[in-house]
Amino acid sequence: MTPHFPHTDTPSAELSGVSVAYPKSPAVLDGLDWSLKPGQVVGLLGRNGAGKTTLLETLLGLREPDAGHVQLFGQDALTLDDATRARIGYVPQHSDLFEGFTPAQLLAYFKSFYPRWNEAKVEGLMSRWDIRPDQPIRKLSGGQKQRLSIIRALAHEPDLLVLDEPVASLDPAGRRDFLRELVGQVLDRGATVVFSTHILSDLERVAFNIAFLSQGRIALQAPLDELLDQVRAFTGSVTEMAALMGRLGAEPLKRTPLEAGRERVLARLPAQAALPAGVAGERVNLDDLFTELT
Ligand code: ADP
Repeated sequence: MTPHFPHTDTPSAELSGVSVAYPKSPAVLDGLDWSLKPGQVVGLLGRNGAGKTTLLETLLGLREPDAGHVQLFGQDALTLDDATRARIGYVPQHSDLFEGFTPAQLLAYFKSFYPRWNEAKVEGLMSRWDIRPDQPIRKLSGGQKQRLSIIRALAHEPDLLVLDEPVASLDPAGRRDFLRELVGQVLDRGATVVFSTHILSDLERVAFNIAFLSQGRIALQAPLDELLDQVRAFTGSVTEMAALMGRLGAEPLKRTPLEAGRERVLARLPAQAALPAGVAGERVNLDDLFTELT
């Protein structure tokens, strides 16, 4: 089957200058810019309390920002029309499923809202993810409820799928495999998938792109393999570092002052750039990136 990719460059989601603050606390999102393109799978990484849920709710138009704008498929997220709304799937961190319903009843109810509904996919996932359609939802385990909530969000084949900590209730062993399968469900249609996590191992071999949320902004977004390939740590005097960055055409991501006028610079090299002979740059892993950038 030939994959179908939307013939458009319109971002699935575009946030510009978005700020959100809760009463009596500093801004959670602070002039944040972010763009998600068709076909992108993005893992949103940030520490607990960094604002991931706030960001995803704002992206979906569920929360009005104090400043800035959000567009989904080129429309204002706060006033989406029904056809555009039907292109979005959302799995919140805590889904309120109707506990007295059975999964079959729940899915039949949601089906009535959507013009498109892939019954074969629903049935396939129900059996593969081991959810009995005729048992009351209140008797399902936390992980089964989460999976049911995901099936509900996949059934209408959304072009933008947003998942807030989608594997939080699953055991560690199954998390990454499950995420891979989940992402596979939507990728062949050129959809955009964004999921938040604070667990690094979830991202390996799953998220093609990683976005770091830090201090109210997306500090960096790039494909994971490129980051691991291109990011290096250098140490030297401030003057040497400035000269080196210029010479390498590298983008400094984080500067940490050391003693005696020296600093450590985490920098991203241009694509396919090799380090000149005599220049020592340490490779970093995802743990280091997380620690330094969030
Ligand atoms: P994350 O999903 O990254 O853990 P959240 O978006 O849930 O972060 O929260 C970001 C910050 O905003 C936290 O400090 C949290 O305490 C605060 N916060 C979240 N929701 C509310 C709310 N409804 N009222 C006040 N503060 C909130």
